[in-house]
Amino acid sequence: MFIGHFGVGLAAKKISPKPSLGTLFFASQFLDLLWPSFILFGIEKVKIDPGNTAFTPLNFVYYPFSHSLLATIFWALLFGLIYYLIRKNKKAAIVLGLLVISHWILDLITHRPDLPLYPGSNIFLGLGLWNSIIGTVIIEGLIFLGGIYLYIKSTKAKNKVGTYALLGLIIFLIIIYVMNLAGSPPPDETAIGYVGLSQWLIVLWGYWIDKNRITE
Ligand SMILES: [Zn+2]
Repeated sequence: MFIGHFGVGLAAKKISPKPSLGTLFFASQFLDLLWPSFILFGIEKVKIDPGNTAFTPLNFVYYPFSHSLLATIFWALLFGLIYYLIRKNKKAAIVLGLLVISHWILDLITHRPDLPLYPGSNIFLGLGLWNSIIGTVIIEGLIFLGGIYLYIKSTKAKNKVGTYALLGLIIFLIIIYVMNLAGSPPPDETAIGYVGLSQWLIVLWGYWIDKNRITE
């Protein structure tokens, strides 16, 4: 799942208006922000395997530190705790921790059974929505649109940047999504790592949008 995670981050603004959209993205996409670095450092492994599922040519061979259930709970607690220590806002800290966990739940729905229970576990989970392209696009599209709707309802543009930076991000994410679907598989595993790292820019984009909007 890709834009669905950003949809959940956008939607969270309605429940917890205090954290910036950048922080909400940071949490909802946290596991996929760790993952490219773990790939590039050789700690985790991915293989290009066209047809692995209908939706993605990636075979997530080994990613227990970013994507096992146990690791997710650890990252969620750590994320919430650090936010709490900095901002002293218990409710927002809990929402951010839950956002980290939401990533794993959405991945559980989409991935084939490749999500380990804990590092070293032989139990792998995944409900395999990715076996259906149309099913994935509908469910992920609905989450994304729902998130945009809730974010727009919860905030108001302060200026033109507040409108166009948000519109630009929405268009950008949709273009990436369609290109991923229609394009050929990545050339090699290192390229996947570097492309993955560029997602940090989306987090920064979230901070930029949020700075130029006021929470209702
Ligand atoms: Zn993920």
